[in-house]
Amino acid sequence: MTTLLTARDELVGFGGSLIGPGDDDYDGARAVYNAMIDRRPAVIAHCTGPEDVARAIAFAREHDLLIAVRGGGHNGAGLGTCDDGVVIDLSGLNDIEVDPQARTVRVGGGCTWGEVDRATGEHGLATPSGIISTTGVGGLTLGGGLGHLTRKFGLSIDNLLEADVVLADGRRVRASADEHPDLFWALRGGGGNFGVVTSFLFRLHEVGTVVGGPTFWPVEQSAEVLTAYREFLPGAPRELNGFFAFHTVPPGPPFPEEIHLREVCGIVWCYVGGEDDATAAMAPLLDSVPEPLMHGVQSMPHAQLQSAFDGLYPAGDQWYWRADFINDVPDDAVRLHARFGAAMPTMKSTMHMYPVDGAAHDAAPSDTAWSYRDARWATVFAGVDPDPANVAAIRKWSIDYHEALHPYSAGGAYVNMMMDEGRERVRASYRGNYERLARVKATYDPTNAFRVNQNIQPSS
Ligand SMILES: Cc1cc2nc3c(=O)[nH]c(=O)nc-3n(C[C@H](O)[C@H](O)[C@H](O)COP(=O)(O)OP(=O)(O)OC[C@H]3O[C@@H](n4cnc5c(N)ncnc54)[C@H](O)[C@@H]3O)c2cc1C
Repeated sequence: MTTLLTARDELVGFGGSLIGPGDDDYDGARAVYNAMIDRRPAVIAHCTGPEDVARAIAFAREHDLLIAVRGGGHNGAGLGTCDDGVVIDLSGLNDIEVDPQARTVRVGGGCTWGEVDRATGEHGLATPSGIISTTGVGGLTLGGGLGHLTRKFGLSIDNLLEADVVLADGRRVRASADEHPDLFWALRGGGGNFGVVTSFLFRLHEVGTVVGGPTFWPVEQSAEVLTAYREFLPGAPRELNGFFAFHTVPPGPPFPEEIHLREVCGIVWCYVGGEDDATAAMAPLLDSVPEPLMHGVQSMPHAQLQSAFDGLYPAGDQWYWRADFINDVPDDAVRLHARFGAAMPTMKSTMHMYPVDGAAHDAAPSDTAWSYRDARWATVFAGVDPDPANVAAIRKWSIDYHEALHPYSAGGAYVNMMMDEGRERVRASYRGNYERLARVKATYDPTNAFRVNQNIQPSS
């Protein structure tokens, strides 16, 4: 409370709102997507622009307070908030400017992907985003950005042209291939370690409608389907993205009633192109496995596919995440997947295996901070449930599943899908890029003011 009053007193000219304990809207303002995270910041600074961001950083540093930066608030580990510190909430930085001629979109640092995909979709254009529309552009992009368009157009960072950044010392800089190239390199995968990005400029691609949706098989057939999938996907055309998943079919439309609540394995497809080409591209896989329970693939705007999971996963569920990069799925790993997939603890728990090949392999491991360019998939084991009473069960399943499969992994994990797993895990996830990241950190944030993230320690 004292800190909030001090902030109101000292943050002269702050254009947004300052919320703290005792305010009526405090509980709403401090809530993040993962309801398992229950933190109580001293001040939530709703910023309206870069000047507000710089003021909030200066205030926090002057009073030796922790700084958390919130984009979409989706991070599983709760890295968009903190106890007792200052949350720099960017949700007010939500301008979107599409330039159809230049094929670019400039996006405020607090936008969500749904807002961006709808705006670019009006022009038949898109940039690679994620699979849930409420995810923040900020966190997803800075960590890498995997989604339906990865195989065709690369990661979100591969389409990032510029970022406007407020640094720890309050300076405002632009990072691009020509300006502060070291910072630009580090931002592309290094997370929120280097500053607060107030705007992103992305390259756009022609993506009108896509052909997408899920194909589901009984979970009992998962070993057969996963074996066929691992053989098929690496050789499939780049236009075809398809991630393997375990799910329980939600009890409502558009799913046929006879498969409601059935445990399934599936592939969620996205083909950039027409229906005939999509059918031909999927055929080798579909012809090699048993008849599915459901093949719900159809032509739709990219923004519609990108929001297809939104209803199943609203904010406020409990989430526990584990993740790994993998190069292949040997037979023993297939058997373990089949075992854990058939033992999902709750209706919303899931495992996704996202492709990171195709265009994502066009960059070398050292071209950007995101080092696992040679991995074929990023696997995520997510225990999910609305009921806090089930936290122990979802946590256990996720950890047990991860530990069983980790020996078959490439070592590190996608930083955006990790919990708080310690420094060595962060280092393993950046491999050979870690030392360079630590040097860039020492240049732009030598005192580690931005440390509520998968933290890179500044080199001494
Ligand atoms: C349901 C769900 C689905 C997901 N699907 C995908 C997916 O398809 N593909 C994928 O790649 N990832 C996916 N993710 C993971 C997602 O990328 C991370 O959770 C990411 O951190 C979310 O970003 P955010 O801005 O919403 O999070 P926040 O919690 O707001 O922030 C996360 C981290 O990013 C930093 N940050 C955020 N914005 C900025 C900014 N503008 N400047 C500086 N630092 C910033 C924060 O400081 C924090 O460290 C998903 C997550 C969830 C919960």
